[in-house]
Amino acid sequence: MEPALGGIARLRLWYVLKTLLVGYGYGWQAVANQDACDLCIVPWDCPPVSITGQRPMVMLPVLESTLIDPERFQPQRILRSGGVVVFTTGERVTDDEPLWVHGPGDLRTLRFDLLAMAFWLLTGSHETHSPRGNTIRVERDNILVREGLLMTPILEEYSEVLFGTFKDQAPPWPRWKNKARYAVTLTHDVDFPSFIRWIAAAKFLLVQRDPLKMWRDLFAKAPDYWLFNDVIAEEGDRGLRSAFYFASVPGKWANLAKGTLDTFYDIADQKFLSLFEQLRSQGFEIGLHANCQAHTSEQQFSRELQTLIQYRGGGSDCGNRHHCWLLDPANPNETLAMHARIGLVYDTSLMFHYFNGLRRGTVLPFHPFDASRNEAIQTLQLPPVCMDDYLFTYRILNNIHDPLTHLGDWLAIGQRFGGLLMVDYHSHFFHPVRFRRERASYLYFLNRLQEDDMVWVATPMEIAKHWLEREKGIAKESFDEY
Ligand SMILES: [Zn+2]
Repeated sequence: MEPALGGIARLRLWYVLKTLLVGYGYGWQAVANQDACDLCIVPWDCPPVSITGQRPMVMLPVLESTLIDPERFQPQRILRSGGVVVFTTGERVTDDEPLWVHGPGDLRTLRFDLLAMAFWLLTGSHETHSPRGNTIRVERDNILVREGLLMTPILEEYSEVLFGTFKDQAPPWPRWKNKARYAVTLTHDVDFPSFIRWIAAAKFLLVQRDPLKMWRDLFAKAPDYWLFNDVIAEEGDRGLRSAFYFASVPGKWANLAKGTLDTFYDIADQKFLSLFEQLRSQGFEIGLHANCQAHTSEQQFSRELQTLIQYRGGGSDCGNRHHCWLLDPANPNETLAMHARIGLVYDTSLMFHYFNGLRRGTVLPFHPFDASRNEAIQTLQLPPVCMDDYLFTYRILNNIHDPLTHLGDWLAIGQRFGGLLMVDYHSHFFHPVRFRRERASYLYFLNRLQEDDMVWVATPMEIAKHWLEREKGIAKESFDEY
């Protein structure tokens, strides 16, 4: 890295580089001498260097201003260059622009600032935030949604461009256990372990705006939503284990006025304690389903976590998913930073509120970035790719013709990019009558996994621990500064 790249830009470049390198499976060694490096990172307007070294060299110019203030980069269009998505503010763009300028000798210089674009994506600088929370309209305007990029692992494409040429010289670290090509992890948000008439009706009225279903739920015979044995049996019989996320504090009706639908159950009840025992003894994971208000108070969030750990047992390592994906709507990264401060091993909440897919352009675990401290956040993010409700209730919005095909498409993406598919099905969606199609789609997915010998299916905690170990191993082989 050119010494001219200093200060904040340098710290942020290292964050991006390490994120991409660890994802790809390479270590690093920083060198001062341009002749000795494989990738040479220089300021955007750096004059062409004269290369005397023997090795092929890749020159990556970076625009410091995008790294320092990524939110000022507001691309309106995309183009495809050399097989990758490039974001551009330019007026006149065409597809298939060359990605590289060649020469002299073996030197290749990247024409687009992929590193700054990766930073822009990883930090969510493409997201519009509003203190009132995300709406369909806000999310539909997001460039990833608008351009149909939610199923494109843009960062993994960038890594292939940047590091793919070295694959023959040095094989990358294997990404997953058991020589698997990709990984899948199955999770269940526990929102309705029992049917609560008023909440179900309120959800149809306020969230889904479906008065017919509201009236049905107000007068229906209560369905049995305690379906845990069913889920355990279907997964267990196939040799699969998943995670269940439980809310640890009963909700408040008053929060309805704030536009959030809490969960209403108490994990101190004996039936939950027996369930926890059963899940743990059979190798299933129990994580936290943080309350909609968790992001407003670190103290409350920490108390929720400790309460879950106390009732659940089994040590302090814990993962989390926010109910309704609700990070701080005005500043999601601040909630992500909070995760590390309260001691979560991983979180898995970074998905748009109304759309399936990759909110930050990657299908791999990663550490989000704390811009106020200029450092990676310790708590690992396992980005979700797919939730049951979006396959059905929000199918048209998500442009999904057939839910089963959509699930198959994710499996293909997992295979092609060696990614992690984090999938979320609510436990009450296992009801055989009320959610017949949702349940059938989940069983279809389980069957596909059972038939596939290229996949490693593990609980999110197993995935997170594996990734953190792997990351440590890669860092141990690396040298930060010269
Ligand atoms: Zn939930």
